[in-house]
Amino acid sequence: MPYQYDDQNIFAKILRGEIPNDTVLETEHTLAFRDIAPKAPDHVLVIPKGPYVTLDHFCAEASDAEIVDFHRAVAEICKMIGAGPGHGGEGFRAITNAGENGVQEVPHYHLHILAGRPLGPMLL
Ligand code: 5GP
Repeated sequence: MPYQYDDQNIFAKILRGEIPNDTVLETEHTLAFRDIAPKAPDHVLVIPKGPYVTLDHFCAEASDAEIVDFHRAVAEICKMIGAGPGHGGEGFRAITNAGENGVQEVPHYHLHILAGRPLGPMLL
């Protein structure tokens, strides 16, 4: 079944300015803001502005411009929060949850960037 985007999800409301957010970076196609319940000293959510539900949906249907913009934004955020090892930072973890098995809470694609403390091994 094709993805159905619910435009009443909380991140859609943030994108429409109906709910405030702590913006870290905004570009033409991407918004990044701090998670309301941070799991690390730096916990940034990066979302495309377009109506994509999950990573695979985004990769399948977003334009090249959106996909490039999103990942350049990720690089910029890692630099801004001092997490990018290539910029002398101590590293970070990037995670996305998708669907039921991935325990995705908000059905608008988002990448979690976690940094600022040792994050321990992944549960895999
Ligand atoms: P998921 O489980 O879908 O991967 O993660 C959703 C994330 O969104 C959670 O980490 C949660 O804390 C965060 N979140 C939920 N509602 C809000 C909100 O209104 N504002 C912000 N900034 N983050 C939110």
